[in-house]
Amino acid sequence: MAHAPRNPNTSRRPFQFAEPVGNAATCPGAVSVPLPLVALDALHIIEEAGGEAWCVGGCVRDALLGRAVHDVDIASSLPWQRAQEAFRAAGWSTVETGVAHGTLTVVRDGEPLEITTYRCDGAYSDGRHPDAVTAAATIEEDLQRRDFTINALAFHPARGLIDPFGGAADLEAGVIRCVGEPMERFAEDALRILRACRFASQLGFTIEPATFDAMVASKNLLRKVSGERVYRELERFVCGDAVHDALLSCVDVLTFVLPELAAMKGCPQVTPYHIYDVLEHTAWVVQRKPPVPLVRWAALFHDMGKPAVEHFYGHPWVSEQMAEGIMHRLPFPAHLRRDVPVLVRVHDDVVPANERAVRRALGRLGGRTDLFEALCDLKRADALGQAPHCAPRAELAGELRRLLGAVLEAEAAFTVKQLAIGGHDVMALGVPAGPEVGRVLDACLDAVIDGAVANEREALLAFAREQM
Ligand code: ATP
Ligand code: MG
Repeated sequence: MAHAPRNPNTSRRPFQFAEPVGNAATCPGAVSVPLPLVALDALHIIEEAGGEAWCVGGCVRDALLGRAVHDVDIASSLPWQRAQEAFRAAGWSTVETGVAHGTLTVVRDGEPLEITTYRCDGAYSDGRHPDAVTAAATIEEDLQRRDFTINALAFHPARGLIDPFGGAADLEAGVIRCVGEPMERFAEDALRILRACRFASQLGFTIEPATFDAMVASKNLLRKVSGERVYRELERFVCGDAVHDALLSCVDVLTFVLPELAAMKGCPQVTPYHIYDVLEHTAWVVQRKPPVPLVRWAALFHDMGKPAVEHFYGHPWVSEQMAEGIMHRLPFPAHLRRDVPVLVRVHDDVVPANERAVRRALGRLGGRTDLFEALCDLKRADALGQAPHCAPRAELAGELRRLLGAVLEAEAAFTVKQLAIGGHDVMALGVPAGPEVGRVLDACLDAVIDGAVANEREALLAFAREQM
């Protein structure tokens, strides 16, 4: 059995892959494309019902690249109603997800596939959606409506690859190129501008010059694209494996949706710690973080305030304000709106390598050990993105993580909740309900972290009395 590499972060069950197919025995001269078995079964069901079917788009691209195939799209000559009958008869469930434009989702063993009738898109008067979609007669016609040559590929295990626009050569060369005239394609659907940036970041590809020029010239059309669609593409962009190169090469396009990036480009950092401008330093920090949205976004925003403040003094606070502004403009999920600004604010805090300092930092993070770990990651990447002589500071981040482990193992307190007394005990001593209770508990926690008082009820009550 052939296995394509898979993304360990995906929560979906991995696909089962077929033996490489389309080899010399079944398809003379064809490339072999390892596709999920479930996709081959779906092709078979459509053919049994008298239709023609191909695997298309991202799944063919990713399989050819040896990357994880995470969703399968099939193009078929059958109207969706006939496809639905055929899949139901074969015992699959079906969902009418996008039947208005010919897309039916079919599900087997919890694994969804999209089946779309060959179509060509009419005019796009709103720059977002085709005014009408009409059935296309052939797969070649269907491939013409797709965005980039690397996404305009169709594959069938017996008939091989259809590649009318040189997509396989562009995959080989690592190039993102529009199908057809780039200005027209971006005028039809401006989201494609961000999809190009996102593929550059995910795949490490360069954008072909005519396509790139059209992206820059058309970027103001992005105002027509919904915040949700913009956000989805940007998140994939920041989590890409090649985000450093993609951020530097796409910045003049991305400024339409993230204007805050403009001032970072070319903003010098004339300090002994830096050899890059703010944008390139940021690009390195983002790239060196694990590909998860929380830390990647925090990295993108962490120094955004630097161009606005003299000598960068107080920049974390300015960066935090800017991050909050961006996160309200675009529909970030609530947990990121809550956590990213915190990381941005504390990223420059000095945390010496001792347990006491680690416990205090944990306290400032509301006891969130996951945020502390994210902070360590950010500090490590930040140090590695500075001048080479700063690299040893990256080791401090490793040391802080080790100290976190020691703090947790010792069950040492770092929030008032972990104290052996609570608010009721303080009030029982005669402190009136209100902020004063919190102040006394904070003083107790301070003393416990300093080692001045043991985290034991009697000792803490005695100490609390002294604070009144
Ligand atoms: P991924 O699934 O990794 O995000 P993808 O290329 O598969 O990438 P999908 O949104 O799954 O993206 O779309 C499947 C296919 O549909 C694409 O490969 C492309 O052929 C076509 N497609 C998707 N969005 C567009 C678009 N905005 N304009 C033109 N074609 C598109
Ligand atoms: Mg896809």
